[in-house]
Amino acid sequence: MTKKLSAISDLLHHRARGLSKGEPISLPIMASTTFMLPGDPDGSHFYGRNGNPTIETVEAEIGILENAETVLFPSGMAAISAVFHTLLRPGDKVLVHADGYYNVRALLSEHFEPRGVIVEACATVDMADADLTECRLVMIETPSNPGLDVCDIAAIADRAKSAGAILVADNTTATPLCQQPLDLGADIVLMADTKAMAGHSDVLCGHVASRDTSLMNKVRTYRRLAGAIVSPFDAYLLHRGLETLELRVSRANQNALAVAKMLNSHPLVQSTRYPGLPHDASHAVASRQMREYGPIVSFTLQDRQFAEKFINNNELAVPATSFGGAHTSAECRIRWGDKVTDGFIRLACGIEPTEDLVNATENALRELGSE
Ligand SMILES: *Cc1c(COP(=O)(O)O)cnc(C)c1O
Repeated sequence: MTKKLSAISDLLHHRARGLSKGEPISLPIMASTTFMLPGDPDGSHFYGRNGNPTIETVEAEIGILENAETVLFPSGMAAISAVFHTLLRPGDKVLVHADGYYNVRALLSEHFEPRGVIVEACATVDMADADLTECRLVMIETPSNPGLDVCDIAAIADRAKSAGAILVADNTTATPLCQQPLDLGADIVLMADTKAMAGHSDVLCGHVASRDTSLMNKVRTYRRLAGAIVSPFDAYLLHRGLETLELRVSRANQNALAVAKMLNSHPLVQSTRYPGLPHDASHAVASRQMREYGPIVSFTLQDRQFAEKFINNNELAVPATSFGGAHTSAECRIRWGDKVTDGFIRLACGIEPTEDLVNATENALRELGSE
């Protein structure tokens, strides 16, 4: 019996399998907003907000990775916002991560709380024990960013199911190659494809995926009515990134693990967080539900001045926010008001050769030590 192909092989060959003689192998960018429509509509393409062939191909590709129906959005926040708008009504209660992506809580407090949605927040480490009674929606982000705490997706999914709540997982940090929240029982997975999925720091996009068809129909309807459509040009860039996703993610994860090991044993580093380190508080749960541990390492130096100098000294760390790109970047998270110490750095590993990145990072620390 032949072994089943991995999802990434299916993704890479998805388009070519449907082609006839003379058709282009690479994905064409279908920029048209309007399509031939003589007579009555019959399900074919007719207007860009309702459907576009380039976007649909990319949705099918991501759908292979998620093993679920997928709807693309013009940013990660547009995907998150679509899920909230689709599911939350006045009087509903939502439990959200207290230490994950900040704009999720800002969106809830700015736009949903004033309309009567009850918003509660819970630290990622406490999610598995949180009270889910009366919850309509539970949203987790694991590993959380930038603290890199982890919660047990399967355990929370069980409890959400008993409570009648819908479990939504933001899988941006892990990617579907390293963690599959839907397989672990989550109802909806969403991602900022802006990060590792597109992977080149040049396009904003996001997606929602679920195996619940009626729920996905509602998300699709919301997108059409709200007009949150990704441009076919951006969808193309995402497609282009997806073709190298596995290579990039695997190198970035390998880099993060190697850098975390070095930082963890360095005398100037006060503490290091990486779910892939065997002693890390997240490791036990992470190793049960993740294949690899993502591109982000967090660590603490003595103060902000030291931390800024480290970033400045590191010839392979761009001083920038975001992650999942080709280059490594680093920043002091205190500048965004995260609940971290002054010297807390988020290092988002890129795809540089591992030895170069470890050496550059070690050199940057050595220069700090010699001042
Ligand atoms: C970046 C990010 C988002 C938002 O994505 P945008 O494309 O910037 O809107 C959401 N969740 C997580 C975990 C992110 O890192």
